[in-house]
Amino acid sequence: MTKIVVVGGGAGGMELLKKLSKLGRKGEAEITLVDVSDHHIWKPLLHELATGSLDEGLNAVDYRVHGSHNYYRFEQGAMAGLDRINRRVLLAPLYNEQGNEILPERALEYDYLVIGIGAVTNDFGVTGVKEHAYSLDLTSQAMKLRERIQQLFLQHAHGVADKDRFDMAIVGAGATGVEMAAEMHHMSETLRSYGYDLSDDLLNITLVEASDSVMPALDKGGLRQAVNDKLLEIGVDVRTETRVTEVTEQGLHTAEGEVIQADLVLWAAGVKAPEVLTTLGLENHRGNQLVIEANGRTTSDPRIFAFGDCAPTPQADGQWTPPRGQVARQMALLVGDNLIRLIKDDNAALKEYVYKDLGSFVNLSRFHTVGNMFSFLRGGLAVAGCPARFVYASLYRRHMLALHGPVKGTMLLALNGLQRIVRPQLKLW
Ligand SMILES: Cc1cc2nc3c(=O)[nH]c(=O)nc-3n(C[C@H](O)[C@H](O)[C@H](O)COP(=O)(O)OP(=O)(O)OC[C@H]3O[C@@H](n4cnc5c(N)ncnc54)[C@H](O)[C@@H]3O)c2cc1C
Repeated sequence: MTKIVVVGGGAGGMELLKKLSKLGRKGEAEITLVDVSDHHIWKPLLHELATGSLDEGLNAVDYRVHGSHNYYRFEQGAMAGLDRINRRVLLAPLYNEQGNEILPERALEYDYLVIGIGAVTNDFGVTGVKEHAYSLDLTSQAMKLRERIQQLFLQHAHGVADKDRFDMAIVGAGATGVEMAAEMHHMSETLRSYGYDLSDDLLNITLVEASDSVMPALDKGGLRQAVNDKLLEIGVDVRTETRVTEVTEQGLHTAEGEVIQADLVLWAAGVKAPEVLTTLGLENHRGNQLVIEANGRTTSDPRIFAFGDCAPTPQADGQWTPPRGQVARQMALLVGDNLIRLIKDDNAALKEYVYKDLGSFVNLSRFHTVGNMFSFLRGGLAVAGCPARFVYASLYRRHMLALHGPVKGTMLLALNGLQRIVRPQLKLW
C-alpha cells in the first residue's frame, strides 16, 4: 500500500489530512501525520490563546483522536532529517519539559512525503530577541506568554509591581502585532470587570514597525488607515519607521538611540521557514523556504511535496504566494488532489495552483474588524464592523467544518458558541 507521510498538522496540513482520509478509508494508502505538538490549534487564533480569550480545551484538536476518525496514524516528534535514497523521514527524540527522553529517534518510510511545517518568527539577527522577547509560533509559546501576562496584571492589581504602568512593546505591525495589541486592551478591560484593581491607563502598548505603515503587507481599500486610526483610538502608541537594534531586559533599543521601556516584549516582526528545511538536501529560497513547482512538488524530488508558509508557490506574474492561511489551505488541498491522482496513476497530469486573493481581515478584538473581500477583483470590496466580524469568524468556522465534517463540525461550533455564553470571557487558569 502507498505510504504517505504528512509533516505538519497546521492550518493547511489538517485540511489535507481530511482530504486524504478517503484514501485511508478505502485502504488505498497508509497515512501518517508527524507534528512536534500532540494537538492542533488554528494558528491565526494564537494571540487569543495568549490573552485567554480562546480556551484551548474547547478549541484544540487532538491529533490521535482526529486520526482515529480520519484514517491516519499520528507520530509525535520534530522532523530532523531525510534519507531520500531509502525514502525515510527522520524524527528527533521526544523530550518532556524536564529534558528526559520520552521517545527515541525514529524513522518513517514514505512513498510520498508532504512537508507543511509553517513558519517561525524571524529575529533578523537582532541581539537579545531570543533571550528577552516572546514569540507566537506554537501553542506552547502562546501559553507561556499568557502565564507571564497574567502574572504582570496580577502584580499590578495587588499594587506590588515595580512601577505603576504595565509597559508592553510589540515589534511588527502585521496581523499578529496589531491584533495582539487590541487583545491586550480587551484583556485589561475584562480583568477590571472581574474585580482586578487596574487603572484605565495602566496598560501602555508601544507597537513598533520598521516600515512607514501598520499592516504593511496590505494595501487594499484603506485597510491600513482604518487599522491605524482604531489602534490610536484604543490608546496604542504606534511607532512606524522605527527600527529595533537590540532587545534587553529594559525593553527595545532603536536605531535612533531611543530606549522604549517594556516589561514584556512580543516579537512579531516577520517570519521565515524553520532552519531544518536547509538540512534536507532540497532546494531552498533565502528565507529557508523550499522551492516548489506550481503543482506543489519540490524542485529537488518528485516524491516530496510542500505547501503553505514553508513553501511559496510561483505565480504567473513572477511573484511568490505570501505566508497566509488561505494560501496554506488552498495549496494543501491542491497537493491532496494531486496525491489522489498519483495514487491512481503514477503518470497522471497534476493540477497547478493559481493564487486568488479572496481577501484579508483584521480583527481588533471587540473594538473593530475591517477587511477587504474578493481582493482579486480590482480594489476588492471593503467591509467593516459587524459584517467584517461575521466573515472573519466564518473563516475559523469553515476550518472547523473542514476538519470535523458538517455534522460534528456544526455540533462543535454550537457547543463553542454556548460555552462562550456560559463561561467567562477570559480563561485565567
Ligand atoms: C497570531 C497570528 C495571526 C495570524 N493571522 C492571520 C490572518 O489573519 N490571516 C492569514 O491569512 N494568516 C494569518 N496568520 C498566518 C497563518 O496562521 C499562517 O499563514 C498559516 O497558519 C500557515 O499554515 P501552514 O499549514 O503552512 O503552517 P502552520 O499552520 O504554521 O502549521 C505548521 C505545523 O507544523 C508543525 N511543525 C513545525 N515544525 C515542525 C517540525 N520540524 N516537525 C514536525 N512538525 C513541525 C507545527 O507544530 C504546526 O502544527 C496568522 C499567524 C499568527 C501567528
